[in-house]
Amino acid sequence: MNTTRSEVLQFVQENDVKFIRLAFCDIFGTLKNIAIMSSELPRAFEHGISFDASAVQGFMNIEESDLLLFPDPSTITVLPWRPQQGRVARFFCDIRHPDGRPFEGDGRTVLGHAIERAAQLGYTCKIGSECEFYLFELDADGNPTLCPQDHAGYLDVSPMDRGENVRREICLSLEEMGIAPESSHHEQGPGQNEIDFHYGDALAAADNLASFKSVVKAVALQNGLFASFLPKPLKNVSGSGLHINMSLFRDGANIFRTDGVTHCRDAESFIAGILRRVCEITVFLNPLTNSYHRFGSFEAPKYVTWSHQNRSPLIRIPAAKGEYSRMELRSADPACNPYFAFALLIFAGLEGIRDGLPLGEPSNFDLLQVDLSGRRKELEKLPETLGAAVELARQSAFLRSVLPETTIDKYLDSKLAQWREYSIAEDRELFERNTYFE
Ligand code: GLU
Ligand code: MG
Ligand code: MG
Repeated sequence: MNTTRSEVLQFVQENDVKFIRLAFCDIFGTLKNIAIMSSELPRAFEHGISFDASAVQGFMNIEESDLLLFPDPSTITVLPWRPQQGRVARFFCDIRHPDGRPFEGDGRTVLGHAIERAAQLGYTCKIGSECEFYLFELDADGNPTLCPQDHAGYLDVSPMDRGENVRREICLSLEEMGIAPESSHHEQGPGQNEIDFHYGDALAAADNLASFKSVVKAVALQNGLFASFLPKPLKNVSGSGLHINMSLFRDGANIFRTDGVTHCRDAESFIAGILRRVCEITVFLNPLTNSYHRFGSFEAPKYVTWSHQNRSPLIRIPAAKGEYSRMELRSADPACNPYFAFALLIFAGLEGIRDGLPLGEPSNFDLLQVDLSGRRKELEKLPETLGAAVELARQSAFLRSVLPETTIDKYLDSKLAQWREYSIAEDRELFERNTYFE
């Protein structure tokens, strides 16, 4: 949608919008916002609204702390879970320095560069994500517990499935916000759910994912539940993945379209490019110590391989026709910063196309079962800990060629500190619960 400022101002006036939330994500993907009164919106468009960037993790130092938020008019949405008299409208913002330069640590800026790079090569990247989450009960004081909302499993129905009403409300809220949900279901784990929405341009897809998480949290809370996007909140049951579906359009045609056997050469190189770089960027796809407990079981990958219908490899090319043809990356989890994650995947895939990388043989066997054949021995593995992932990222020239140096350093320093704290914690489970759960 290409909404102009004047259309937005008119909408705000005609629809009883009183509060404007200016939203953005910090470098770790945590959603932040400032609320301004709607009368301040013209000023925000014109001059931006400043905030103390030294107080946002990974942004600026105290000596140079001012950054400005400029609302992107095309992202306006009314928040359906807030009062409908004196409404709240939310915008995602572009972040700039006081002299007008885009702020290099802004995920939207970084993703914008990846989109531009694709456009230079004649491509538009479309992304659709499938995000899993758990619903937990609250205790008498309203604090989250680790008691799942139900004990249902994959595609179960009521009364086993107690999530149907919450999923219904989430889907209706998403629809009101213009984020078209496509399907929803109970997932494998107790209290685990999934909602998939329609694919879109990469930037809208990242904005939508950030919105999705806040809708799920808000609706869950209104229903007396706590929604968790932790990659592995419970041991011995399914973790929560963020499957990232990507396709590339050239001259209006999807190059992932296939006759079921062969693929377009560039689509193969794009996948090969991602497989080449995936270990170096895993710390951005799987950012928590907890992320690494998910790999290698319950359909979450462990090896750097690809296949068609098989769900154990890292990249799958699902059976889908026409515009829905795509690749699905299965390693990422919902704790990632979607802007950085999408940008890095696009950059890695485009680099594969640039280099004309060939795609190796598919792995058409179950990689997660006991290996009797010894076929798995030669396969490259994803990093097994956050510490290993930080190390691979530190050595990555690719990463330094696509992300700003200061952002990489701030991000990796923080991740390394987290890894060290976790490593020396007496009770690591408790560390993860205290650090990540809420
Ligand atoms: N929950 C699995 C994961 O952690 C994915 C299951 C599925 O294929 O939807 O990635
Ligand atoms: Mg799923
Ligand atoms: Mg999937």
